[in-house]
Order: sequence, then C-alpha cells, then structure tokens
Amino acid sequence: MATHATVEAHDTNDEFNPFLSQQEGFNTAADHLGLEGGVRDVLSMPDRELTVNVPVLMDDGSVQVFTGYRVQHNTLRGPSKGGIRFSPDVNLDEVRALAAWMTWKCSVVNVPFGGGKGGVICDPRSMSIGEQERLTRRYTAAILDIIGPDRDVPAPDMNTNDQTMAWIMDTYSMHERKTTTAVVTGKPLSIGGSRGRREATGRGVMISANEALKMVGLRPEDTRVVVQGAGNVGGLGAMLLHREGYKIISISDMYGAINNERGLDMPAVLSHLKTNRTLEGYGEAEYVPKGEGQLEQECELLVPAATENQITSANCDRIKARLIVEGANGPTTAIASKALSERGVTIVPDILANAGGVTVSYFEWVQDRMGYFWTEEIVNSRLEQIMVQAFQEVRQTSEKHRVDLRTAAYILSIDRVASVYRMRGLFS
Ligand code: GLU
Repeated sequence: MATHATVEAHDTNDEFNPFLSQQEGFNTAADHLGLEGGVRDVLSMPDRELTVNVPVLMDDGSVQVFTGYRVQHNTLRGPSKGGIRFSPDVNLDEVRALAAWMTWKCSVVNVPFGGGKGGVICDPRSMSIGEQERLTRRYTAAILDIIGPDRDVPAPDMNTNDQTMAWIMDTYSMHERKTTTAVVTGKPLSIGGSRGRREATGRGVMISANEALKMVGLRPEDTRVVVQGAGNVGGLGAMLLHREGYKIISISDMYGAINNERGLDMPAVLSHLKTNRTLEGYGEAEYVPKGEGQLEQECELLVPAATENQITSANCDRIKARLIVEGANGPTTAIASKALSERGVTIVPDILANAGGVTVSYFEWVQDRMGYFWTEEIVNSRLEQIMVQAFQEVRQTSEKHRVDLRTAAYILSIDRVASVYRMRGLFS
C-alpha cells in the first residue's frame, strides 16, 4: 500500500500515534472496498489544517501564548463537525486522527456532516475560569474564518463543556453581529442546547452495549462491566448501563479505580464524585490507585471511556472481557485491536459506539436552525433509532465482508463518503 500519498506523520511507525492507527483502519477497509487510487488519496488526507498561536492575559498580569489547532478532515457530506479538546497532550497528529474519525463517525450514523476536530495545548486544571474564558475566546477568534453553521461546527470534547460552547457561541456571534446558535453544539439549554445532549454519548454506549449483548447472547443481569473513565461518557454511560440492569463492578477516574464484585450503586458513586471530585473515599468499594490493571479484570464487558491508547500490545493479552464497547476515541491501538479480534473478542468500535454524542449534536444543529425544540423523549427515541440502525448496518457489513466490526464500520462509512465524492465529481 506504499504507492498512495499520505500526510506525513510526525511520529512515524509508532503504535501510539493515533493518526497512524486511523490510517491503518482506513487502509484495511479501503483494500476490502478496492477503493481506487484518487479517492483513496483524497480521503486519507485532511482537507485543511489550521495552527494558531494565541496570546492570553493571565490572572497574574503576564501574557502566555497557547498553541491550538483546528483540522477539517472532510466536508463532502456536509459541514465538518467535531469537538474541541483542551489538554497538555494535544498534538497535530492526534487532532488529525480525531478529525478523520469524526468523518467516519458521522458517516456510520449517516448524519449529514463531514469531520473536524480542534485542540488547544493547555492544562485547564491549572487555569482559573477567567483564564479559560479568555483562552477560549481568543482561540475562537483565531479560527473564526473557518467555522460557522454551514462550514464547521465545533462541540465539547475532553476538558471542554457547555460553558466553553457558550463562550464560543458568544464570540462568534459578536463578530457576526447577530446571535448564531448553530455555530456550536453541546450548548446550555438556555441558549439553543438540546435536551438529552449531555447524556447522549453515554446513551449511545448503552444502546451499542445492548445490541452487542444480543449479538453474543448475553443478558444485562449476567454482564459484569468494567468502565474506564467517569466523565461525561464513562460516568453517564455507567449510570445508564446500571439502570438497564448491568452490573458495574469497576469504574475509574484519572487517579484510580473503585471495585465491587457485587456491583456498584452508580447514582451513589456519581454523587460521591460530584462532591469530592475523586472516586477515592467512596465507601462501598475497594479503592485501587491508577495503573493496577483495572482493564485486565475478569468481566464480560469492558468500556474504555477515557482517552486514546489504553488497550495496547502491552496489555491486550491480559484483557479478559469478551466484549469491548469503545466509549473513547481511539482507546485501542491498531495492533491490539487486531490481536483481540483474532482471539474472538467482539469490539464495538469508537466510530459506532460513541456516535451518540454527535448524533444528538446533529439534532441540536437542526433544532437551532428551525428555532423549534424537541422533547427529551423525541431526542432519545430518534437517537435510539439511528444507533440501532447503524449497528445493524455495521453488523451486516461485517457478515458480508467477513471482517470484524471495526473494519466493517470503516467499510460502511468510507463507501458512503466515496460514493458522494464520485457523485459530486472533482471541481476544477
Ligand atoms: N467530541 C465528541 C466526539 O468525539 C462529540 C462531537 C460532536 O458532537 O460534534 O464524538
């Protein structure tokens, strides 16, 4: 496959480079599809990458310059769509990978968006709210020319939330000289947010888990679940799984995990987390500090819902779950994914399993543009309909091509984008 062009990755040959992982998934599926050279080249490269360096006035009176990115991977099916993350680990290859995954994710669930992603290198935990607001506004001003309801629509991701989206919406609107709610999704309800958006990614994880369980013949009450991550995806996902009757035996945050073989009482766990901002000290469980093999516990279902590169060649042999539902983007490296699939572990891939968030983002964008807002029941039932249909289509694709669910999800989504490309033709 060396003949086609690729974007040069900074960190070549690295299992932990998410862009290379993404390319590996893309190339495997493109080979199955027999994707012709030109289309393959177009889809394997991001359309546009913007790097910005923005000055921010800090509380102590100093000025600090922050580097941020916005990558638009593809806009063939609609405006690019995808979150903005704030983290010290952000780098261009990561943002590129996440942007490409958004293209495939939107295509898997068949919402009319392309893919994009943004990131700012910063540590929000060491910044005051005022500093975070000034950073968000300067970053927004710096990417203003390339975002917009019809161009590129950001959303929350790691360490950003509805407040961040409100600042982005306001900054954009002030420049446009009119309130433009549809420029971002994941906003507070009072300024054009959608009911059900906050829980949407976790709800999508739950729907995916339900479908996967039917596939392997398990019942929720017989399913022990280990969840990595207790944020918007892991925490709310675990809560919804608990409500469905699954037994959550372990959940972790960035410092450590709490374990209870009899099952955790998720509402109590989340209320402890809210008050204490750590899982440590929760009474009805054993606390284990980070790095003590949480993912390798005996369980039926593993939900990695924290960040990239958690299931790797270093630990995949010790994973005991028979099902993995990927709440995070890129939690399993390409090498580990292949090894687990060969061992018969069913993996519901990120671009399907965590697509609930962007699906309700799509609903939010539609509602903003209509100026007419739906009930939570309507949002949830439309989400369920879309997720179940996407799951079934991925499953059928996997049977047809005799491939695992990840490759099937890529095949389905790449085929959709490629056929739009052929239909639209090349502008010249
Ligand atoms: N950041 C989320 C994701 O990775 C949501 C993106 C969106 O809603 O646009 O899917």
